Amino acid sequence: MVEQNNEKTLATIAKKISLCQKCPLAQGRINTVPGKGNPSAEIVFIGEAPGKNEDEQGLPFVGAAGRILNEMLAHINLQRDDVFITNIVKCRPPENRDPELIEKNTCYDFLKAQLDAIKPALVITLGRHSMEYFLPDQKISEIHGQPKLKIWPDGSRQIIFASYHPAAALYNPRTKSILLEDFYKLPYLIKKIRKADLTSL
Ligand code: URA
Repeated sequence: MVEQNNEKTLATIAKKISLCQKCPLAQGRINTVPGKGNPSAEIVFIGEAPGKNEDEQGLPFVGAAGRILNEMLAHINLQRDDVFITNIVKCRPPENRDPELIEKNTCYDFLKAQLDAIKPALVITLGRHSMEYFLPDQKISEIHGQPKLKIWPDGSRQIIFASYHPAAALYNPRTKSILLEDFYKLPYLIKKIRKADLTSL
């Protein structure tokens, strides 16, 4: 029942995203990329922005970075359908440039609405840009692989776990092994969160 409600809510958000004209990224897109996965996922992965393949297919992480993400998930016995995968911005920036602050801020309401619907135990940010949005003034090299408690202005709480962007692991074996080490922490962390009082993390 919860799953059905979440599915409906996420579909409504996806529809709104598909109609969005609030920032200039709307002009250059083929498709919006709202995100995909389990509407009641315990884990939500948040990348940066759709690339060429994602824009063409309307799906997140379906190119080379997506193959690395699939590989990491397989190592911890998760399928893409077990988790929810999305991005900070839902439209492709031209030439794959970094999304600008105004674009991230404009798109943020959609991401917040998705998180409010799914209520994941854990949000995993992939890459510096995604991390910065949740944990400003932090260095990814210092905080990756560690759960951090984020308290939103409305008092709600969310555990954030930052890791590297899978694209950074494509040509860098060292980054790939760090990413994998971080992923290996997830099953234990999820078990701990299920039982724990969030403040003890
Ligand atoms: N990189 C991202 O950050 N997101 C995608 O969906 C694909 C590549």
